[in-house]
Amino acid sequence: MRAFLAEGGFETHCDAWLSGHDPEFSRRLAERGWVGMTWPKRYGGQERSQLERYAVLEELLAAGAPVAAHWIADRQTGPLLLHYGTEAQRQEFLPAMARGECFFGIGMSEPDAGSDLASVRTTARRVEGGWLLNGTKVWTSHAHRSHFMITLVRTSALGEDRHQGLSQLVVDLRGPGVSVRPIELLTGEPHFNEVVFQDALVPEERLVGAEGDGWRQVTSELAYERSGPERFLSTFPLLVETVRELGPDPGEAGARALGALYGRLSALRGLSMDVARRLEAGEAPNLEAALVKDLGTRFEREVVETARLLVPPDSAGEAFQRLYRQAVAHAPGFTLRGGTNEILRGIVARGLGR
Ligand SMILES: Cc1cc2nc3c(=O)[nH]c(=O)nc-3n(C[C@H](O)[C@H](O)[C@H](O)COP(=O)(O)OP(=O)(O)OC[C@H]3O[C@@H](n4cnc5c(N)ncnc54)[C@H](O)[C@@H]3O)c2cc1C
Repeated sequence: MRAFLAEGGFETHCDAWLSGHDPEFSRRLAERGWVGMTWPKRYGGQERSQLERYAVLEELLAAGAPVAAHWIADRQTGPLLLHYGTEAQRQEFLPAMARGECFFGIGMSEPDAGSDLASVRTTARRVEGGWLLNGTKVWTSHAHRSHFMITLVRTSALGEDRHQGLSQLVVDLRGPGVSVRPIELLTGEPHFNEVVFQDALVPEERLVGAEGDGWRQVTSELAYERSGPERFLSTFPLLVETVRELGPDPGEAGARALGALYGRLSALRGLSMDVARRLEAGEAPNLEAALVKDLGTRFEREVVETARLLVPPDSAGEAFQRLYRQAVAHAPGFTLRGGTNEILRGIVARGLGR
């Protein structure tokens, strides 16, 4: 992996796992068996362990490699389909994902349903041959560059229990009745989108799992979404550059600050790897995953602040300045995407109280 990364062909970026979208890089990675690597061989995977996958992810993140194109499919949509999908769905999507040729977005958030995800209003009405979708999703990362989106919809009317009546559908983002409108990030890059459905017909066989079981399925997806090393390594390239800038003698303040960061990093790593092991064992470590994301995203923001205090950005080298600018521009999203930290702490508090 390190030899492959040393071949280059990309520029190291902060937050590259969500903003470094490079389909060609994803395909090169897939050719070497590093996409879908834990999946069964019959679906294009390599049957490697979660721990081996973890080692690959860490190397990619540490290098700031542009992995965003396949990240969602590899991290959560593939496992979701393996768990809940039909045999036809697995055969249709998993091998193409593992070749780095089929990219997925996440269609959860809506204009009035973010933290309170169960209040989604996008409806899917059963019609002959499938489902008719109407509604709007928002903040959908890379919908304008992805092929499909796993979409959380309401398939029966809102009742007393808001967690009932939700379902997940695979929606073709280029299909009729689907409009994808890019929204720019602070940096001016197109990143996320508004996705509008106007009588969009989704074939019957694109329902994932059981009708009405969407809440249970989507929450199981969140443990994959929240617990990986990307939740604390988004700014790792800046940390490496900070160490380089300070040189072999960082001074007492520098040594203390860097030591404290490395101590926390190794604790986060232990926690995140433990979640990976539990996922492999078929458990649902939602509380632990929420902890990784809450502690991890605060850590990756502190890296930015520590870098600023130790290395005055104006006097630093070009690489530091570039990574610092990227980290500052992307940091506001760290504690929002994938569930805000306030919501995650609620999950942890409720879990500990049980
Ligand atoms: C970079 C980025 C990429 C994203 N990509 C995707 C994507 O691909 N797909 C997708 O579906 N979504 C995506 N999102 C959306 C993200 O999941 C939501 O922004 C997030 O869940 C928060 O929802 P909201 O923006 O509606 O904020 P709100 O839910 O309106 O929250 C606003 C504020 O109120 C606080 N708050 C809300 N409820 C409570 C409560 N009960 N207790 C305490 N505080 C509370 C929140 O913590 C937050 O600070 C992305 C977001 C970002 C920033």
